[in-house]
Amino acid sequence: MCMPLPGAVQPVKMESYANGAKFDCLLFDMDDTLYPLILGINLACRNNIQDYMLNKLQIEESLVPKMCLDLYKEYGTTMAGLKLMGYEFDYDEFHASVHGKLPYEKLKPDPVLRNLLLSMPQRKIIFTNSDEAHAATVLEKMGLEGCFEGIICFETLNPKNPGDTDASSGKRVLCKPSLESMEAVVEIAKLDPKKTVFFDDSPRNIASGKAAGFHTVIVGSSALVPGADVALESIHNIREALPELWEAGGDHVEAAVDIRSAAVAETTVLA
Ligand SMILES: [Mg+2]
Repeated sequence: MCMPLPGAVQPVKMESYANGAKFDCLLFDMDDTLYPLILGINLACRNNIQDYMLNKLQIEESLVPKMCLDLYKEYGTTMAGLKLMGYEFDYDEFHASVHGKLPYEKLKPDPVLRNLLLSMPQRKIIFTNSDEAHAATVLEKMGLEGCFEGIICFETLNPKNPGDTDASSGKRVLCKPSLESMEAVVEIAKLDPKKTVFFDDSPRNIASGKAAGFHTVIVGSSALVPGADVALESIHNIREALPELWEAGGDHVEAAVDIRSAAVAETTVLA
């Protein structure tokens, strides 16, 4: 369910601007999109997943690296593939084990990105395959709390029902890049795909986002990939590559920024 903006502040001027604008929502992947791949968070995460496969799931060591990669490619996340293969483990334990030891100290506050985000009048939502705790930590380390209306994460797309044991095997995980995950986000956040810009560093997520009808931006690449409308070497280049996100706003944009800055609060997890 889509939660209201913290403080429930929806300035009238912003509404009227957004209604007539080409785009009214910006949907951001988080890892390796809001910060660069080169920081090594992704690599550390993969190593932690492989440790989990080896030590917790007792998978033969020589098989682990290829299996980790193959499942990631086939099912969107290695975890999703492990579940479908029948491995029994608890989602929360998996996430705690994989994200608990990440080198978060490499993530630094990014005031440039924060100012860019706050200066854009559109709705801004995070769409990540990661869990809520990791998303909250990353946004806090980067100083981006309050920049987003909400976070759509693992728990949003895979809610626990009463009596559910997610240790059950053979369970299907809803995650990017499946088209169903894109459609779920459209429904949860009440998006108009044609008026939504989707930012992601993964070519397959971009292809899927395009299939869902989004305007798409591949981040971390200077070259377009299939399904991408725009390529951004860094998220910091967003203003140069997509000036239309600021255009036509005029006073409306300024007014919206003032109000939203005042309303900065904890980002709400959409669940
Ligand atoms: Mg990513």
